[in-house]
Amino acid sequence: MKDGELTFLLIREGQKRKLVIIGPTERLGEASKEFTAEEEGGLNTEEGETLRYRICPCNHQNIEALRRRFPYTKPKVIGLTPAIGMGDRIGLATPGHIRAAVRFGVFPVLAQQSIREMIRTGRTPREVLDDVSVAVFQEGYRGGFSADADHLKTIEDVEATFKAGYTMYTIDPSDYVDGEADSDDLETLEAKFKRLPWDELGCSGEEFLKLYLDKSFKVPAGGQTLEIKFSRESLLRAAVKYSAAIAHTVRLARHLQSLFKDGSFDLEMSVDETENPTTPLEHFFIASELRRLGVKVQSLALRYVGRFEKAIDYIGDLKEFERTLREHAFIAKHMGPYKLSVHSGSDKFSIYPILGRVVGGMLHLKTSGTSYLEALRLVARHDPKLFREIVEYSLGCFDRDRRSYHLTTDLSAIPNPRDVPDEELEEVFLNRGDGRQLLHVTYGSILTAKRSDGSWLFKDRIRSILIENEEEHYELVASHLGRHMKALGLSEKA
Ligand code: ZN
Repeated sequence: MKDGELTFLLIREGQKRKLVIIGPTERLGEASKEFTAEEEGGLNTEEGETLRYRICPCNHQNIEALRRRFPYTKPKVIGLTPAIGMGDRIGLATPGHIRAAVRFGVFPVLAQQSIREMIRTGRTPREVLDDVSVAVFQEGYRGGFSADADHLKTIEDVEATFKAGYTMYTIDPSDYVDGEADSDDLETLEAKFKRLPWDELGCSGEEFLKLYLDKSFKVPAGGQTLEIKFSRESLLRAAVKYSAAIAHTVRLARHLQSLFKDGSFDLEMSVDETENPTTPLEHFFIASELRRLGVKVQSLALRYVGRFEKAIDYIGDLKEFERTLREHAFIAKHMGPYKLSVHSGSDKFSIYPILGRVVGGMLHLKTSGTSYLEALRLVARHDPKLFREIVEYSLGCFDRDRRSYHLTTDLSAIPNPRDVPDEELEEVFLNRGDGRQLLHVTYGSILTAKRSDGSWLFKDRIRSILIENEEEHYELVASHLGRHMKALGLSEKA
């Protein structure tokens, strides 16, 4: 990459990427104030001119300097642009994500990582974003990207990701959602309703009831009208279920606002992890309350009907999915507009045509662990022995790692990897659902497992396979995500 008389390029030494800057002595002197080097020297060109070079580690300070010089390596705010989120758990898949996005003209949300993922992989928000900026530079990609700090639950989460420079913030207030409100008796509901955080909700319970009861809210629905009417019972259920979560979202959103001052950022609220699907009435209620409390979201993640299990296709009734998605889309358009966000969105090939058709222009689809499985596919191809070790280790920690997910994995359907010949490993463990789920949820254990001497059990070996077969890795990731985009109805650019 050229910047005036200076040339910037990336090289790789062992497992580490390094930034090399080459240029005339005086100009390089200026750059040395910004970029710290670990090695410096002279070069004689064929024309007899003397140039100097500096080899700089890809540390945070140098990556910050890179972002100042090449602003396209910095994430940006996207507003209502439809987007696909792609997570990179190892930090080496992003070039593949960029290639898929370029091919299909998609706006990519890179560095999409939840706090849970960062804890499980032992990476910080800063490291995740730094890896992405380097990948963007490496690909010479200037089309712009967003960075999603996913599933933030606390003020600390918000601050850590703000400091790292994220531009999109997904607030997950699920700890404050009261799922029991779906089945509580009326007396319990009334008591819980009284105890809601009315101070934060900016009104009294009485005032609140007046806002919603004895009214009919009309949502335009493609030539028809979707009518939303609250009975006292349905209002109490919605309020008890979601109001504390809304108050928490408002708290974090206001904190973000104070951090950004006049700067802008993208905001999402996610209530995708509830037991029961979000009803149109609940959706309307959440949107209406956010609006009343002055919080504007660019996207909202709901719990849609059916099952969105990790790493496998959608499980459920496609007709019902489409019908309810349409209702949600009308509400999102009327109450925002904001995008509908679909989490655990990878590998849901049967619903992509519906998503493309119903909310294509207002969709934020999040895929995350699916790129990790493509990395393991590369391992299966190049080092079957290591791949078998990973499967065996995953079988040992699956029961613990699966707890935070809703999965229907049948472990008895997974054979002992030692009984599976090399050429069938991919088919058995990476193409079939049970194997995919096993490997998908144990990523944290695999990527952080250490030997007794403190060295990595798998991480280094996985990384070196990905690095040695870099192009093949990027292409695997790009073509897998490309299949997602194609199924959404996007066409590949020539
Ligand atoms: Zn989610």
